[in-house]
Amino acid sequence: MAAPVLGIDLGTTNSVVAIADGRQSRVLADPEGFQLIPSVVSFHPSGDILVGRTARDRRLLDAQNTVYSVKRLIGRPFRSPEVRTARERFPFELTEGPTGGVLVGARGETYTLSEISAFVLRQVRSVAEFNVAEPCTQAVVTVPANFNELQRSATKAAGRVAGLDVLRILNEPTAAALAYGYGRGSRERIAVFDFGGGTFDVTLLELSGEVFEVLATAGDTYLGGDDIDVLVADQMAEAFLEHHRYDPRDDAQAYERLRAAAEWAKCQLSEKPDVQLRIEELAYGDGGISLDLTFALERPVLERMAQSLVARTFDVCEDVMRIAGIRPTQLDNVILVGGSTRMPLVQRMVTEYFGRAPLEGIDPDLVVAQGAAIQGRALTAPAERKSLGKVALRRITRAEHEATRPSQIAPPRTSAITPPDAQGSPGAPPTSSGPAGLGTLPPVGAGLGSLPPVPAVPPAPPLPEFGDSAGSPPRPPVPVGARTLETPAFAAAPPPLPSFGNAPIEDAGVLPVGPAFSPDPEVAERSLERASVRAPDLSVLEPAVPLAPDAPEPEMPLLLDVTPHSLGIETVGGYCEAVIKQNAAIPVEQTRVFSTAQDNQRLVKVRIFQGESRRFDDNQGLGEIELAGLRAAARGRVKIDVTFVIGADGILAVRAKDVETGKEQDVRIKLVGGMAEDDVQRLVDRQAAMLDGGR
Ligand code: AMP
Repeated sequence: MAAPVLGIDLGTTNSVVAIADGRQSRVLADPEGFQLIPSVVSFHPSGDILVGRTARDRRLLDAQNTVYSVKRLIGRPFRSPEVRTARERFPFELTEGPTGGVLVGARGETYTLSEISAFVLRQVRSVAEFNVAEPCTQAVVTVPANFNELQRSATKAAGRVAGLDVLRILNEPTAAALAYGYGRGSRERIAVFDFGGGTFDVTLLELSGEVFEVLATAGDTYLGGDDIDVLVADQMAEAFLEHHRYDPRDDAQAYERLRAAAEWAKCQLSEKPDVQLRIEELAYGDGGISLDLTFALERPVLERMAQSLVARTFDVCEDVMRIAGIRPTQLDNVILVGGSTRMPLVQRMVTEYFGRAPLEGIDPDLVVAQGAAIQGRALTAPAERKSLGKVALRRITRAEHEATRPSQIAPPRTSAITPPDAQGSPGAPPTSSGPAGLGTLPPVGAGLGSLPPVPAVPPAPPLPEFGDSAGSPPRPPVPVGARTLETPAFAAAPPPLPSFGNAPIEDAGVLPVGPAFSPDPEVAERSLERASVRAPDLSVLEPAVPLAPDAPEPEMPLLLDVTPHSLGIETVGGYCEAVIKQNAAIPVEQTRVFSTAQDNQRLVKVRIFQGESRRFDDNQGLGEIELAGLRAAARGRVKIDVTFVIGADGILAVRAKDVETGKEQDVRIKLVGGMAEDDVQRLVDRQAAMLDGGR
């Protein structure tokens, strides 16, 4: 039998892997019985690359070379505000890559964020292979619903670098809904409230029998439990400063220990009313005397600190309700996903907002991977069970286009824009625009001296299990050798990638047609496709809602998802025109017509954005497309259909066609900070050379 497709929840803090085989979906555990695999990579002085729990333990000992929360940064341009904040906050080095992306520096080497995530995915894959005892090469990987194009592409690239064929990038809430609703056959509208370590998403879905339709989604990719940890760590630092006149925030190593302790305390307070901890040798005073921190925190105090952060999630909920046109109390159920939803404060505020208690009995840490596994199984189910596997078509009408247009999209204001059918008509500028006792942490550097030579896993220091405390209890240990990723020497880093991204477009002569969509009804009503998939015959779901053993086999689910952000192009003057609107059902295909602005113009470039602002600079620039080899003709005579296609995984593809000749143009999308196929392959080779001789 072919190896199962892995369902992977690649989390900010932890990752989870599940498989759906035959009639059940189950989460896999590592040899020690842990189901949560910390998304942490540590570059050991010995040259080993540690991943997972051993890496997480290194955060306290070797903060500069231990990389975590990469999901917060993946696919973001180096100059984005999020990366700026992260550079202040994270103890490891972040530098700008040659294409404007982010590189992580550790022990004299630099890594792309896709490579760091790939180390985690390799570990996930090895856990799966340990369980199924055969090579696993295919996966469905989940991402937050509001991940943009760059973030999705970078995640997909990470899969490739890890040796995985990523069959689908699936939105986390959709995966959760799939695991929850699959086989229930009910009609209900639900909200998936996903509050993790680094991101928050809320998604409204309508489940109607086997149809899972996303009504709307919204989120904040920089709001999560890590932010609460920072608040607690700051309070600890203040207490230490007051007591010892030494600010541990000035010492990356000490601060990292504070953050780990803060997270531990926060998680403890989900279970009990107060907590105390002690950190020994957090710093050293005069004469090398050790300075310790003793700290106590009560749940109400934590809740007062976290209140405004948690409240921000409901601003996002308001957005999503407005988009979907429904009230919170009209929903039938609320599903909680993500570790931060374990906080009683979050649960109370959710209950208050939605007017109903969230569903119980769903493990917020595991449900997403289980949904991904169901989807993976569906994508590869035997042909005879895939009757819904083909694409279903739904036509989008002009009225729908108009209804989804922003009310204040104005035509571009410069006469340089030359619609084919209204050349020269000027536009206008936009008008708006521990334990009961004391938890003791080890002194700085404890354990470092005792590290065995290469290759071995360093002994885990006797710490409380930060981050896993809320996870499933470990299963009995399975005696296998601890796995270490070896790092033989490898050649110099790959040559720099060509720079482009922020360069001005000198010869931009591409001109969007005045109206937001092509005036040609044939073009405007180009079909909008909706894919459907067929899931396996799972009658026992370990997760949310098990089916009775004698229940009839459920219908296969039909997933109807949406794109979280508008996609469009820059127009003259730095404005934007949407081509595909926010929350459009995907897969979707949309076409606009462009024309040349100069006589005999052979090349045009268009900058692509994602976001809702009318100003290009306020949106996420994704990159640019280049239309080369145009035929020589007078200005405005060459008309080009530019088609944006978002596939079922939310990944954008662009096509261009000379309208008159029907000739397809050579279109290349160069993503900001993104990687071309060659670059991905180079990273695949480099990582394979670094690890296990290219497993
Ligand atoms: P995720 O991104 O879904 O893996 O969620 C990770 C986040 O959940 C981290 O910020 C954890 O500190 C947080 N978390 C995990 N367990 C708990 C808990 N019992 N109470 C509060 N927060 C938790």
